[in-house]
Amino acid sequence: MGPVPLAGDMTLSHSALKGDYRRSKDSSPFNRAMVRFSPHFSFAYFALYSVMAQIQEHNVPSSYRDNILKWNGWGYEDSYFQLNKKGQVTLSGARYDMSGQVLPLLRPWFEENLGVDMSYKTPAQPRSQVKIPEPINNQEFIDHLRNLGISFSNKSQHRLVRSHGHTMHDMSMLRYGGPQRIPDLVVWPKSEEEVVMITQAACKFDVVIIPIGGGTSVSNALECPEDETRSIVSLDMALMDRILWLDDTNLLCRAQAGIVGQSFERQLNAKGFTCGHEPDSIEFSTLGGWVSTRASGMKKNKYGNIEDLLVHVNVVTPKGLIQRQCQVPRISAGPDLHQVILGSEGTLGVITEVTVKIFPLPEVKKFGSIVFPSFKHGVDFFREVAKQRCQPASLRLVDNEQFIMGQSMKLEQNSYWKQLASYCSKLYITKWKGFEINQMVAATCVFEGGQDQVDAEERRLYAIAEQFHGVIGGEENGQYGYRLTFAIAYLRDLGMEYGIMGESFETSVPWDKVINLCRNVKQLIRREAESAGVKYPVLASCRVTQVYDSGACVYFYFGFNSRGLSNALGVYDRIESAARDEIIACGGSISHHHGIGKLRKKWVPSTVGEVGISVLKSIKHELDPQNIFANGNLIDFNRSRL
Ligand SMILES: Cc1cc2nc3c(=O)[nH]c(=O)nc-3n(C[C@H](O)[C@H](O)[C@H](O)COP(=O)(O)OP(=O)(O)OC[C@H]3O[C@@H](n4cnc5c(N)ncnc54)[C@H](O)[C@@H]3O)c2cc1C
Repeated sequence: MGPVPLAGDMTLSHSALKGDYRRSKDSSPFNRAMVRFSPHFSFAYFALYSVMAQIQEHNVPSSYRDNILKWNGWGYEDSYFQLNKKGQVTLSGARYDMSGQVLPLLRPWFEENLGVDMSYKTPAQPRSQVKIPEPINNQEFIDHLRNLGISFSNKSQHRLVRSHGHTMHDMSMLRYGGPQRIPDLVVWPKSEEEVVMITQAACKFDVVIIPIGGGTSVSNALECPEDETRSIVSLDMALMDRILWLDDTNLLCRAQAGIVGQSFERQLNAKGFTCGHEPDSIEFSTLGGWVSTRASGMKKNKYGNIEDLLVHVNVVTPKGLIQRQCQVPRISAGPDLHQVILGSEGTLGVITEVTVKIFPLPEVKKFGSIVFPSFKHGVDFFREVAKQRCQPASLRLVDNEQFIMGQSMKLEQNSYWKQLASYCSKLYITKWKGFEINQMVAATCVFEGGQDQVDAEERRLYAIAEQFHGVIGGEENGQYGYRLTFAIAYLRDLGMEYGIMGESFETSVPWDKVINLCRNVKQLIRREAESAGVKYPVLASCRVTQVYDSGACVYFYFGFNSRGLSNALGVYDRIESAARDEIIACGGSISHHHGIGKLRKKWVPSTVGEVGISVLKSIKHELDPQNIFANGNLIDFNRSRL
C-alpha cells in the first residue's frame, strides 16, 4: 500500500464528513489488508486514497510540539549547529549560553575523531517529501469523540510528530525514509474524565491507544507496531499540564501528568520549591513520561530517582482507575502497586495525575570540578565517595574521550587551560602532577544546600579527591560541564548532516565491574565498527553519571562515519546490539533509566526470568484484556485469553 505525501492533506468540512463516514467504512482494517495483498489493487487503492487522505479534526489545540519543536531532530526548531561563512561551527538561535557563539574547535574535533569531511553531505529530505501512510479511520470512534467534544485530528503533520521518539532509527526514518506505521489519529484530553471517556470508547470500538508525553523516548517506545491493523490513537497529554495543588506543610505537589519538566520546575521555583528531578531531557519530557519510564535525574543523589519522589499516582486503565486511597510517606500493605506502574511504558493505561515530593529551594547551588590522571583514578574516587555516602547532589565522571570532546565545544577564550590557570596551569597538571592529556579525565559536581552544608560537602569531597590524585579544576569548569548537557543533545543532528550515526545508551553495574565494563564495551564498539567496514575513526566514550551504594550508572556515547557503507543503519544496529550483549556479559543491566520500549525487549526474558514474564503478562491481561494499550513495549502480549 503506497503512502501518501504530507502535502496531500485536504481539510473536510463538517457536512462533507457524512459522506466520508459512509465511504470510510470500506476502509476497515480488513479491506485495507485486502488492498495491501491484492495484486489487482490499483483501483481500490486510489478510491481509498482519496477518502483516507481527507482530514477529520475537531477543536485542535495549538501545541508546542507542533509549533516550536523540530519535526526531524532534537529540540527547538530555531536551535541547531551549523557552519558559518568561515566554516566554523555555531549554534543558531538565542536559547542557550553558546547560542550565536563560534565554537572554533568543534569542526576539527569532528574531522579528527570521526573522519568527517565537511564537503561530503547527507542532508535530510524536506518535510513535504516524507511519505505518510494513510490513516485507518475508525469512524464510529471518531464520531463518538466528536459527540463528546474531545479534541482530535487525523492530519498527517499531527500524526507524524507523535509517531516517534529520538532513537537513531527514528531520526533516520524522518531524515531519509518514511514511516511504515504511525498513529491514525491524535487526541488531546483536557482532564482525567476525558481520558476515562477515551479509554472506554477505545474498548468499545476496539481502538489502540499510545499515550505520549514529551516524545523524548530513546527506546522506540512510541513507535506503532507495524502489524497492528486496528486504528491507533496517539493520546497526547499536552493539555493536561497544570499543577493541581501544592502542600507546603507536607511538602507535596500534585500535577497533571502532561506537565513538561521545565515548566513544572519553573512554577515550583516561583513558589520557593523544587522537585529536584532533572533528567537531561527536562526541557521537553513530562511528569507522566518520567513515571512511565522510571526516569532518573542528574541530581538523584540528593533528591532521589522518580520512584523515590513518587507519592501517589492515578492511572486510567481499561479496567478502571488505579489509585491508592491515601497519600502517605510509606505504607506496608502488600506489594506496592506503584512499582507496577513505574516503568509500565504506556502498556497498562494512562497516567493522569501524579503527587511528588517537593523541597525548599536550596540556599546555595555551587558547581565544582576535579581532574584525575586516569579513568581508574576517577572511578576509585567515586567508589570511595559512595562508600562514605558523601556524594553531592550531582557527581559525574567523563572519560578522556568525552573530556576532549567537551573541550572542543568550548569557545576558544574559555578553554579548560585558560580557566584552569587561576587554580593551576597546564604545566602544573602535565609536568608536575604527571597527567597525560590523552589519559586524564574530569569529574563535575553540583552541591546544593545551606552555605555551611555546601562548604562542608566541598571540603570532604575534595579531601577524598586528593587521595586519588585529583586536582581541583574550579567552579567555572564544573558549571560548563552541566551547561553542555543541553547543547550536546543537538550535536547528533549536526553529525547526521555529514554521514555520522550516533547514539547514547546506559546501564547500571556493580562497583567492582565498572572499569572492566567500560573498557570492554568501548573496545567492542570500535572492533565491531571496523569489522562492519567503517573506514574512519570511531567515537566510543562513557561517563559515570550516578552513584549508588552498590554500583553506578554508566552512560555511553558512540558514533561512526557511515560514508561508503551500503547499509549504515544495519551496521549501527549490529554495533548497538553487540554493545548491549557485551554490557550484559560484563555484569551490567539492560537499562538504568531509558527503559525497554521495543529496542531492548529481547533482553527482558533473560533479565526478569520466565516466571517474572508470566507475572507481567497476568497483570497486563487483568488490566487490559483487549490489549488496548498495544504499543508492544516491554514484552509481547497477546489479546485476551478469555
Ligand atoms: C537528549 C535526551 C536526554 C535524556 N536524558 C534522560 C535522563 O537524564 N534521564 C532519563 O531518565 N531519561 C532521559 N532521556 C529519556 C527520556 O527523556 C525519558 O525516558 C523520559 O522520561 C520520557 O518522558 P516523555 O514525557 O518524553 O515520554 P514519551 O517519550 O512521550 O513516552 C515514553 C513512554 O512513556 C509512555 N507515556 C508517556 N506519558 C505517559 C502517560 N501520561 N501515561 C502513560 N504512559 C505514558 C509512552 O507511551 C512511552 O511508552 C533522555 C532522552 C533524550 C532524547
